[in-house]
Amino acid sequence: APPATMTHDPKPGDPKPGRGRRARRPRLSVVIPFYNEGANVDALFDRLVPVLDRLDAEWEVVCVNDGSRDDTLDRLLDVHDRDPRVKVVDLSRNFGKELALSAGLGHVTGDAVVPMDADLQHPPELLPQFLAKWREGYDVVVAVRNARVGQSFKHRMFARAFYWIFDNLSEVKLPREVGDFRLMDRRVVEVINRMPERTRFMKGIFAWVGFRQASIPYEQGERAGGETKWGFLKLLRLSFDGLTAFSTFPLRVWSLVGMAVSGFAFVYIVIRVIRTLLHGIDVPGYESLLAAVLFLGGVQLITLGILGDYLGRVFNEVKGRPLYIVRSAHGFEDEEAAAAP
Ligand code: UDP
Ligand code: MG
Repeated sequence: APPATMTHDPKPGDPKPGRGRRARRPRLSVVIPFYNEGANVDALFDRLVPVLDRLDAEWEVVCVNDGSRDDTLDRLLDVHDRDPRVKVVDLSRNFGKELALSAGLGHVTGDAVVPMDADLQHPPELLPQFLAKWREGYDVVVAVRNARVGQSFKHRMFARAFYWIFDNLSEVKLPREVGDFRLMDRRVVEVINRMPERTRFMKGIFAWVGFRQASIPYEQGERAGGETKWGFLKLLRLSFDGLTAFSTFPLRVWSLVGMAVSGFAFVYIVIRVIRTLLHGIDVPGYESLLAAVLFLGGVQLITLGILGDYLGRVFNEVKGRPLYIVRSAHGFEDEEAAAAP
């Protein structure tokens, strides 16, 4: 059974939001997934660390190496040696961005947490604004992109179509132009960490948990170096995961289709019976028969496929495998515990 309390509605005795947040020096955790980002590591920290040092807050950066095959890990460990506030979680293989992010969120100790990309498309200069909004009492502060730089026309059209379909099929609404770049209060992160599901469509999960939200606009720049990890097929996969994780519409729509087809067939049968009674039996008609059989066969196969897809997901959830496997962890108080999956 899911944990009983997943919401944090204010109770009468609760302090006003944001009160405790101003009282003491808070601790900020930045979480960054890295997959073959060796070319960006040094540039990223050269820009990020000065911003963090200027904040009125303690800070840590949790870097997740998502099974990179280049020198990302070595470079991260170099940074960690110079500054122990930069911590490294090394996953045993490439688990994909969503799970790398989950791994990072599982290792943070901050009062507020900011997930960020490694390619400097998320400007660290926004961190002071994030923190200011958080101090005002917002639990979630999202960064809203006001330009999609470096994305093809095809990519943008695909994104629009996806959002349209998702909004119409699913019970949660995805905010537009909002990525993973955001600040979350510790409580929000704890709720997300408690969510056991394997298909981790972070955009949907973030939207699903709710909480008091504020937003900040920003300009998303080009990648600093390296290449985007999202091919078209990977995006398609992600969209499908997102849809099936947050909607059961693809499962339910077939009863509607079935009813429509049966209704049509019933009317057709009545017409044929009347015609037969009036005009006798006419033999021709196997084309329409064949067409109907093939059409229905197709619909049934699609239905089976969709059932199979959901069943496969149920199977994956039931297996209960760990979401990700940590090979080693560097910079945590209890490194053995941090490296346990
Ligand atoms: N990433 C990851 N594992 C993957 C793919 C990507 O950890 O399998 C990381 C990547 O290193 C980067 C972030 O996810 O820090 C976003 O990736 P990318 O910039 O390629 O995505 P885009 O900005 O094009 O959406
Ligand atoms: Mg990027």
